[in-house]
Amino acid sequence: MPTATPNVTLDQEINPWEAQSARFDFAARKLNLDEGLWKLLRTPARELIVHFPVTMDDGRIEIFTGFRVQHNIARGPAKGGIRYSLEVTLDEVRALASWMTWKCAVVNIPFGGAKGGVICDPKSMSQGELERMTRRYTSEISDFIGPEKDVPAPDMNTNEQTMAWIMDTYSMHARHTVTSVVTGKPLNIGGSRGRLEATGRGVMVVCNESLRYLNIPVEGCRVIIQGFGNVGSNTARLMMEHGYKIIGIAEKDGGLQNANGIDIHQLLEYKYRNGTLVGFRGAEQVPSEDLFVSDCDILIPAAMENVITSRNADKIKARIVVEGANGPTTAVADEILADKRIFVVPDILANAGGVTASYFEWVQDRQGYFWKEAIVNEQLESILRDSFEDVVRYAEAHNVNNRIAAYMLAIDRVAFTIRQRGIYA
Ligand code: NAD
Repeated sequence: MPTATPNVTLDQEINPWEAQSARFDFAARKLNLDEGLWKLLRTPARELIVHFPVTMDDGRIEIFTGFRVQHNIARGPAKGGIRYSLEVTLDEVRALASWMTWKCAVVNIPFGGAKGGVICDPKSMSQGELERMTRRYTSEISDFIGPEKDVPAPDMNTNEQTMAWIMDTYSMHARHTVTSVVTGKPLNIGGSRGRLEATGRGVMVVCNESLRYLNIPVEGCRVIIQGFGNVGSNTARLMMEHGYKIIGIAEKDGGLQNANGIDIHQLLEYKYRNGTLVGFRGAEQVPSEDLFVSDCDILIPAAMENVITSRNADKIKARIVVEGANGPTTAVADEILADKRIFVVPDILANAGGVTASYFEWVQDRQGYFWKEAIVNEQLESILRDSFEDVVRYAEAHNVNNRIAAYMLAIDRVAFTIRQRGIYA
C-alpha cells in the first residue's frame, strides 16, 4: 500500500518536518478531512525561539538558542520532551511537536503536542554549565509552560536531573513548588514509579501484541536493537526477561552480536562500569551498520531519526520493525518496507509508553497521591494493548498500513474534539 512519497531529494527525505507532513497529508486525504481543519492541524500553533546567555566555567558568556513549539492543545495541555543536541533545528522540533499531538491521541490521553530543544553539545559541558543553561532556558520559556499549559519531559541528552532543575526554576518563579510542570522527575520530588523504563515497557508490549497478531511465538524470537540508551537498554532488558533472544545491539561506537542471545544484565553492568559497550566479552564485536541489516525477527531502532531511508530499507531482513525512536523511518523507506511486507509498528504507537507514564506522573502530582509500581505497569500495558488493537483494526478497516492507520486514528480524534469545541476563528 503506497503511503506518501512524492519525488523527493535525500535532504527532503531526511527532514523530519517533511516526513511528518507527508504522512499527515496522506492520512488527511484518506480521511477526507475538510480544508480548514487540514490547514489548522498541519501548522504548529505556537513557536518560541529564545537566544539566551549562560556563564561558562571559565567566566565567558556564551549565547545559546532554544526552541519550544506547541503544535496543538485541543485535547489538553501540550506535552513533549526537551532535547539537547547540536543537531536541534526548528523543523525538527516542529515535527517532534506534531508527533506528540498524534501520539497522545493514538493512546487517547488528554494532552496536545509540544517539543523543545536547545542547540548545544551537552557532552562537552560541565554539570554546572548544563544546570545554568537549563535554568536560564526554563526562565525564558516559563510563560509558555505550566501544568495546565505545556508540560515538558526528558528526551535525547536530558534526564531526571534536567527535569529537577526545570521544576525547581519554575517553582522559584512561582514562589511555591509546582511538581506537575514537568514529568520524568526523580521519584522523591514527584516522579512516578515505572516512568524510567516505561518507554521500553511499551515497546515490549507492542512487540508481544505484534507476535500475537502474526501468530509467532515469543520464545526464541530474535531481536536486534539500535541504541542502548534509556529506550534501547530498558527494551532489551525487559524483552530478555520476557523470553526474547536479544541477538544484536547496535551502538554509536560499534555493535555486539551473539546468535545465542546477549545477557543484557551483564551488558548493563559492563556499560555502567566502562561507559561503553566496546570490549564486552559476551558477544562478538561487529560494525553497527552490518547488524542493522542482519537477519532477525524484530528490528527495534531506538536511537535517533532517519536510520531507515531509501539507502538501506531494501536490505532490512527483519520480519517486524518496531520504532522505539521517534522518526527512524523516512516516508520513502515506508514504501520499501511495505513492498517487502514488513510489519511496522510506527513510533507514535510503539514508543508511546513514555508519554503514557508521564500522564500518570502528572495525574499523581496533581492528586498528591502516588501509585504502586504494579498499578503503573498494569495501566500502561492495558492502554498500549488497547491502542495496538485500535490501530491494527483501523488499518484493516481502511486498507492502509499501520503508520497511516495510526495517523488517521489520531487526526480523527483531534479533529472530532476541535469540531466539538468549535473553531474560534
Ligand atoms: P538516549 O540519549 O538515552 O539514548 C540514545 C542512544 O542511542 C545512546 O546510547 C546513543 O549512544 C545511541 N546512538 C546515537 N546515535 C547512534 C547511532 N548512529 N547508532 C547507534 N546508536 C546510536 O535517548 P533515549 O531517551 O533512549 O531516546 C532514543 C530515541 O527514543 C529518541 O528518538 C527519542 O526521541 C525517542 N523516545 C524516547 C523516549 C523516552 O522516554 N526517553 C520516549 C519516546 C521516544
